[in-house]
Amino acid sequence: MTNIYRLVCTLFVSSAMFIIGCGAPQDYTPQITAPAAETKPLYTPNMYKNSAPTAPKPKTSTYTSPSSNNSLDGKVIVIDPGHGGKDPGATKASYSSAQEKYLNLVIARELEKQLTKCGARVIMTRKSDTFLELEERSAVAQKYKPDLFIAIHTDANPHDLSICGPSVYVARSASQKSRTAAMKINASFRNWGFKPRGVRNADFKVLIQHSSPAVLIECGYLTNKQEAQRLNNPAHQIKIAKAIAEAVCQLQ
Ligand SMILES: [Zn+2]
Repeated sequence: MTNIYRLVCTLFVSSAMFIIGCGAPQDYTPQITAPAAETKPLYTPNMYKNSAPTAPKPKTSTYTSPSSNNSLDGKVIVIDPGHGGKDPGATKASYSSAQEKYLNLVIARELEKQLTKCGARVIMTRKSDTFLELEERSAVAQKYKPDLFIAIHTDANPHDLSICGPSVYVARSASQKSRTAAMKINASFRNWGFKPRGVRNADFKVLIQHSSPAVLIECGYLTNKQEAQRLNNPAHQIKIAKAIAEAVCQLQ
C-alpha cells in the first residue's frame, strides 16, 4: 500500500466514523416548522374601541386564540414516566449524573406541558419520585382509555457503549393507531436532528396490559458518553419533548 493510498483510506475511515458516531455535535434545528402557524385573530377586544356603541359584536365562533393550537381538543393522553422511587432504572455503566427515573420524569413533565398546549387532557401516571408497579401504570390506561399512552424511558447498553439515539417501541400485536403514532414520532426525531433507531417491536407490559394505542419511547442511551451528557442538559430534554409533541399534536 502506498503512503498516499494509506492516507486516503485513513481519512475515509475517520470521516465515516465521524458521520456514524454519536459524538458528532448535532444540529438540532428542526427541519420542519412548528405545527399550526399562528394566525391573526379575527377579533381582538380593542377592535371596536373607537366604533359607535352599536357596533355589532363578533360571533364567538370566529374568534381564534392566537396563542393556542387545539389540535388535540377532546383527546386524552396518558404519559407514563418509567421507573421511580426504589426503582432508579438504568444505572449500569452509565455516564449520567442523573438516574434514569429522574430524566424520564423531567422529559415527561415537559411533554405534558407541550401536549396540554395542543389542547389535550394529559394524565400522568406519576408526577414525583414515586414507585409504581407496571400493573398500576397499565391500570391508569384502562381507567382513562386514552387516545394514546406514551411511556417515557432512557436506554442503556453496557455491552456496546457506542450505541446511541432514541427508539420508539410498539407491541408485536400493536394496532394501526399505535404504529402510526410510533412512525410519526420516529420521523419527528429525525426532523429535529436526532439519529433515531427506528420503530421496534417489544411486548413491554405497559404496552400489552391494556387496550389503548400505546408507544414506549427510549429517549437515548445513558451508556453513550456524549449522549448521556446531552440527556442531562435541560435544553436537550425540552427538545426531546418538543420532538415527541410535534408528532403527537398532528395525530388525528
Ligand atoms: Zn427504563
